Amino acid sequence: MIARRMLAPAPGWRRDADVVVVGSGVAGVTTALAIHHDLPWARILLVTKSLLDDGSTRWAQGGIAAALGPGDSPEQHLADTLTAGAGICDERAVRALVTEGPDAVRRLIELGAEFDREPTGPLSLTREGGHLRRRIAHAGGDATGAEISRALLAALDEAAASANLDVIEHALAIDLLLAADGRAAGVTLHVLGEGQHDGVGAVHARDVVLATGGFGQVYSATTNPRVSTGDGLALALRAGAQAADLEFIQFHPTVLWLGSNSHGRQPLISEAVRGEGAFLVDRRGSRFMTGQHRLADLAPRDVVAKAIMRVMIDEGSDHVYLDGRHLGAAVWRRRFPTILASCRQNGIDPLTELIPVVPAAHYASGGIRTDLHGRTSVPGLHACGETACTGVHGANRLASNSLLEGLVFAERIAADLADDLPQMAEPAADVRPVGLLDPSIVRPLQELMSARAGVLRSGEGLAAAQAGLITLGEQGCDKPGAEAWQATNLHLLASAIVSAAIARQETRGSHWREDFPDQRDAWRGHVIISLGPAGLTRVFEPALDQEPKRGEGA
Ligand SMILES: Cc1cc2nc3c(=O)[nH]c(=O)nc-3n(C[C@H](O)[C@H](O)[C@H](O)COP(=O)(O)OP(=O)(O)OC[C@H]3O[C@@H](n4cnc5c(N)ncnc54)[C@H](O)[C@@H]3O)c2cc1C
Repeated sequence: MIARRMLAPAPGWRRDADVVVVGSGVAGVTTALAIHHDLPWARILLVTKSLLDDGSTRWAQGGIAAALGPGDSPEQHLADTLTAGAGICDERAVRALVTEGPDAVRRLIELGAEFDREPTGPLSLTREGGHLRRRIAHAGGDATGAEISRALLAALDEAAASANLDVIEHALAIDLLLAADGRAAGVTLHVLGEGQHDGVGAVHARDVVLATGGFGQVYSATTNPRVSTGDGLALALRAGAQAADLEFIQFHPTVLWLGSNSHGRQPLISEAVRGEGAFLVDRRGSRFMTGQHRLADLAPRDVVAKAIMRVMIDEGSDHVYLDGRHLGAAVWRRRFPTILASCRQNGIDPLTELIPVVPAAHYASGGIRTDLHGRTSVPGLHACGETACTGVHGANRLASNSLLEGLVFAERIAADLADDLPQMAEPAADVRPVGLLDPSIVRPLQELMSARAGVLRSGEGLAAAQAGLITLGEQGCDKPGAEAWQATNLHLLASAIVSAAIARQETRGSHWREDFPDQRDAWRGHVIISLGPAGLTRVFEPALDQEPKRGEGA
């Protein structure tokens, strides 16, 4: 059963720090650097479960959005973000994002990030869906995340030369340590590899910042890397923190289908390929987008993703195909060299073969609920980046706002800690899962979630997902280890996502219910999920500008 339980802290090695930051993507590294800058005396420990650049950040392509260009303004960026968020963004959070965003990007440039520029010198800014102005700064064409990650990690390396900043790779945060008064007092870690920290140990800290990224690995197809198992969100729930907006997950309509044994980070096949004339076909080779929407294969992402899922369900298949053979070698080489290369690396030649594609989980708009300073509902626990729900994205993220959110809210967290760094508290308990689950549940869990709680949702499908998760939750495991912890976290998150999706009986933003196809005013608000001794609970909270009306949808 999924439930919270307090256990005595695990024995093992111990380290003390003022702040422990978990995760080394844009959010974690920027937080660590900003704290190092604002509180130079503070001892910071950054831990990350794999290599430093193994998160989503380095895979970000399009760019980072900020009102930096002539004719643009934070107000316009605010308006575009609120439109995408479908009525449930927290306007105060969006205002912080868009007004502090331009300076945050400038600081990133000062730190060494090299963005693409016009021949005359100014930043080259482009537009993306939903942005009414040119405001997407990019690097290396479509390699923005790689450049941001490079620049941040170089700065981290430099800062780590000082005595006050330390980094441990291959350190999987398992759970939070809590003081007797419920405050966060550190984390337990499982450290792999050789060295003084091997095995399970603990970091005692005055404040914990979770920056563990998204949870695309809950689904069988995802653009997210393997590390995106939502650990931070799971351990925050176990520590009593609230999660919000978990039902709002963006799906990308076409990633390369790599076979049923692939695990995540499936390469994107960009819309631009359809823009050049490629089209989707079913198993028999028939086009299925014609007649579904006036733009056919170029219909909006959600329309295309839903149509693909319907064909897959009708055919009982796990992918459809994209036909781009007629584009010819010259177009493929000139326009899509990266996609051509990644298809060929995976044994498919788009010049002569159909490309197998499938919709994939791409971005989690919801997460650990925070205020405008990144504080969660657990004192001494902050969250930043994709794992957090600051209220910026509402029901749908505006493209390229996520890297910016990581930067802006990292600096807000550092400022908050500079104002008020809690005293060290002695850990009284940790909140390990009641029982670990067997890693073998992960594949069936991912398939269940993609089939029943992915792009297309209905009351019936979600109930089947819930029942399937209960059965998978019975497969215990007595061998603790990274795989078992991650499997247990994925199960908790999948259960929380399904619970939120069942509650929201409407279609809004990226949450599409076949049985409730319209957006409904009564649902203009947030499903808040918590984990208590009796399991997951949920309440509905109306959006901030509405009269409070608690309890609906619970
Ligand atoms: C293919 C792709 C393209 C994208 N394109 C864009 C774009 O153009 N613009 C944009 O704004 N956004 C884009 N995004 C989204 C954006 O990249 C992410 O939202 C952002 O990078 C998240 O940053 P983060 O620091 O929160 O998490 P991540 O970069 O994912 O980092 C999370 C870190 O936490 C670590 N971690 C996780 N669990 C644990 C644990 N238990 N213990 C210790 N460490 C842990 C991971 O190893 C990792 O270091 C894209 C995402 C993908 C996947």
